[in-house]
Amino acid sequence: MIVCPNCETENPVGSRFCAECGASLATAKPAPRETPPTAPEWRMSDAGPLPEPRRGRRKWLWFALAIIGACLLCCVAFFVWSATDAGQGVLNDASTRFAEVSTEAAAE
Ligand SMILES: [Zn+2]
Repeated sequence: MIVCPNCETENPVGSRFCAECGASLATAKPAPRETPPTAPEWRMSDAGPLPEPRRGRRKWLWFALAIIGACLLCCVAFFVWSATDAGQGVLNDASTRFAEVSTEAAAE
């Protein structure tokens, strides 16, 4: 029996990978149920690189940049729109309505 250093599952002699968790049994010792001192090293050396993590991060970076860009675009568009006569009218109307509502709320 080979005891998996990762999950302590017993695997048949000659197994290269744990049947339970898939961990490599290359350095596992065919014996007692104590954690071998080489376990951390095995995890560092034999774990292998994660499947293309940089591409995923870059994807999120572009996603965040797109959101930030959209926000900036909305801000610019809002300022440009508020500078026009139509925007000024709407904003003044909204502010007067807000003032009316707040004064009504205060009166009650
Ligand atoms: Zn295992």
